[in-house]
Amino acid sequence: MIKKVKQQKKEMVRTPKGMHDLLPTDVAYYEKIYEKARLISEFYGFSPIETPHVENTDLFIRPLGEATDVVEKEMYSFKSKGGDMLTLRPEGTAPVMRAYYEHGMQSWPQPVKLYYNGSFFRHERPQRGRTREFRQFGAEIIGEQDPIIDAILIKIAYLILKEIGFPNVLIHINSLGDRDCRGQYKKELLAFSKKKFNYLCKDCKRRVKDNPLRLLDCKDTACVEIRAQAPQPIAYLCNNCKAHLKGVLEYLDEGEIPYTIDHHLVRGFDYYGRTVFEIFLEEDEAGALEEVKEGENKIVSAVQLAVGGGGRYDELMTLLGGKSVPAAGFAFGLERIVHEMKAHEIATSKIKQSPKVFLVQIGAAAKRRSFKLVEELRKGGVSVGESLSRDNLRSQLSIAAKLGAHFSLILGQKEAMGDTIIVRNMIEGSQETVMQKNLIDFLKNQSKKKK
Ligand SMILES: [Zn+2]
Ligand SMILES: [Zn+2]
Repeated sequence: MIKKVKQQKKEMVRTPKGMHDLLPTDVAYYEKIYEKARLISEFYGFSPIETPHVENTDLFIRPLGEATDVVEKEMYSFKSKGGDMLTLRPEGTAPVMRAYYEHGMQSWPQPVKLYYNGSFFRHERPQRGRTREFRQFGAEIIGEQDPIIDAILIKIAYLILKEIGFPNVLIHINSLGDRDCRGQYKKELLAFSKKKFNYLCKDCKRRVKDNPLRLLDCKDTACVEIRAQAPQPIAYLCNNCKAHLKGVLEYLDEGEIPYTIDHHLVRGFDYYGRTVFEIFLEEDEAGALEEVKEGENKIVSAVQLAVGGGGRYDELMTLLGGKSVPAAGFAFGLERIVHEMKAHEIATSKIKQSPKVFLVQIGAAAKRRSFKLVEELRKGGVSVGESLSRDNLRSQLSIAAKLGAHFSLILGQKEAMGDTIIVRNMIEGSQETVMQKNLIDFLKNQSKKKK
């Protein structure tokens, strides 16, 4: 029984704040990125994994750390009707690590290489140009700590962007050391922050005790000035961590991947150790290539835009409550890449091929016959366009012409009652009558002749 709802004038429901539809032309960009990323990852031995969009809240609180922006204010968390605390996934690494543990992938041949692609959710302020549902492509290598693993991940991230068509891709890299040497570094940084405490921004004042590293990636102008004098993590690396970083950089040199060491790079999350990196698209600022006279100097400024990042997180599994497993990974923010593809006028590969054959029907009997004929053509491997909802001959022919169809199949009352169909060659203007049962062979022969 359907209750009659009293009709009221209502405002049309729209998308929630910070969330957007992807229209067909947008989807084509995402598909192009995904296609490149998938091909390159699979070549390098990665397999796909999909984890749920909703996870137990603890999965993110434990590894991300209480004192991170994501956990403090950006997670979409809710209590389920069964009383569980759940969260819409804000990132992809913790879920993949959970899946590795939950499905006993320790017993698979190591390392395990996985990639994922999908939506993530953070309740960020939309005015920062960020969306609350965003898409990421990510790749993880679990079960191996050799520096070549870090270099492979960086190389894949680099290749994906190059092959999408970005000319200048640059890697920023740093090492945070492992638990031992990072402890020493954190102490030094905390001591430094205490000395400068009065000059720190509100956020840093609050979180400096729990996570002094956050000072390094604070965007507040006062903090940016202070951090220039702050101790740098690389200076505190133990011998093993130093050798690991050296190894990664040597492989990058070998692979001719352009990088720069960024002493302030920390990444947002607590679980990173040793290698951290970010992936930048570099471009000359619009107009900056023209000479700007300032004294004698010609100023050419380059704009760098981060589109992804990653690093090593050997301690993440322990934070989640499992046995320690070395691992590393990266993720791309697809929204930013799409934005840049549009700015660079990079075309999407998925330009829909319009069919070379178009079916035109006139009259009720022909329309009924067409309903079935389209499917017969599909099964026969003939790509056919149609406009079955139209009845007018001229309007159907004009659609066929617009699509650039080589052949129009014309099915009138007479043909529908019999068993023939008219095939009109739209280029030559000629036409002939063909038996319906021979139609597929006839069309295939025609397309062979053209080649
Ligand atoms: Zn700050
Ligand atoms: Zn170390």
